[in-house]
Amino acid sequence: MKNKNKNRCSFCGRSEDEVALLIAGLEGHICADCAREAGRVVEEAFQYSKRTAAKNNENLDQNNIPKPKDIKEYLDQYIIGQEAAKRHLAVAVYNHYKRLGQAKGETDDVEIEKSNIIMVGSTGTGKTLLARTIAKLLKVPFTIVDATVFTEAGYVGEDVESILSRLLQVAEYDVKAAERGIVFIDEIDKIARKSDNPSITRDVSGEGVQQGMLKLLEGSIVNVPPKGGRKHPDQDYIQVNTKDILFICGGAFDGIEKKIAQRLNTHVVGFDSVQNLQKIDPTDLMQYIKPQDLKSFGLIPEIIGRLPALTYLLPLDREALKNILTQPKNAIVKQYEKLFAMDGVELLFEEDALDFIVDKANEYKLGARGLRSITESIMMEAMYEIPSSRKKQFKVTREYAETHLDKHLNN
Ligand code: ADP
Repeated sequence: MKNKNKNRCSFCGRSEDEVALLIAGLEGHICADCAREAGRVVEEAFQYSKRTAAKNNENLDQNNIPKPKDIKEYLDQYIIGQEAAKRHLAVAVYNHYKRLGQAKGETDDVEIEKSNIIMVGSTGTGKTLLARTIAKLLKVPFTIVDATVFTEAGYVGEDVESILSRLLQVAEYDVKAAERGIVFIDEIDKIARKSDNPSITRDVSGEGVQQGMLKLLEGSIVNVPPKGGRKHPDQDYIQVNTKDILFICGGAFDGIEKKIAQRLNTHVVGFDSVQNLQKIDPTDLMQYIKPQDLKSFGLIPEIIGRLPALTYLLPLDREALKNILTQPKNAIVKQYEKLFAMDGVELLFEEDALDFIVDKANEYKLGARGLRSITESIMMEAMYEIPSSRKKQFKVTREYAETHLDKHLNN
């Protein structure tokens, strides 16, 4: 009660007794804390517009575009193998930049159209890693979305348009920047039409979503709910033109080798039947993938038509897995070495310990994805004990790896 007639800060509501300084305005007051906070907000807003302006200028500088070979070299530092996919991606990104350059009022009639990409390869072969790595190099907004969360408009799940909400968020709601961005749509195979399932109920998460996605891939003006999720009648939409947005799709397409084999008129199972086929390598059928295999898998032809660059990732063999453990810039082994070095301990992995990890990853059939969790299980105890010990060196032998993985699995 006693504070009733005191002046108060119009922002935080504290009275003049509770703050160090209260500045009077025409119709209200502001305290020192709120004034400071307001200053910070103003500063951030200016920084933001300066940053966006700088970003746009950077985008327009066609002379600084990395060439496809430069892009591939960059990818080589992080991703083992997968030559075909790296080349496709490098070219697509390079052309994307070039197309953005030509958009600025060139006079001839030749308009370079975009070449969206689809990457097919089983789980853990590096699709997402490729997308993430290239994102670091890019100077345009980039986002990764998962196709499994989308359903046809009107059903539970997210509307396809919310793909663009994410891009807008990354572009800090700068529509012009978002319209030049790149979207990686993961697990595109999960929206394949379930063809052998005669549709009594509607296929709300398959063909319907593909139809919705088509609209984005084609290049049209789309009403985007700014916060994502479902469209809502009362919501204001932001209009985004998808003409210059590059879409990269990825999917495991489990079992597509069978469709490829059928097309090649052979069978995956049984060595005899493929033996008489010349030139075809039956162990890596993925490399023969063609758009019609995607159609047999359940993608609608219109979608396939909008993803003209089709590329594949090969399953990782033992050698590739071992290289992944040790070679990339942030290889798993290098990461553990760094962790231990921070405690002044030199960490050594013996060759046959690495072979053991590779064998186990092969056994679990998770591609390179298994390597990390297997190594983590093996290293768990050492990471717990070593920081409190006086050891200067720690060696992981095969025997150590075997016993500690077993121990972890039995716990
Ligand atoms: P997916 O193909 O299922 O998208 P990811 O790209 O998510 O697979 O791979 C999972 C993890 O496996 C990555 O984070 C990375 O550590 C490792 N990995 C997979 N493939 C490769 C590769 N070709 N080179 C280096 N690391 C890889």
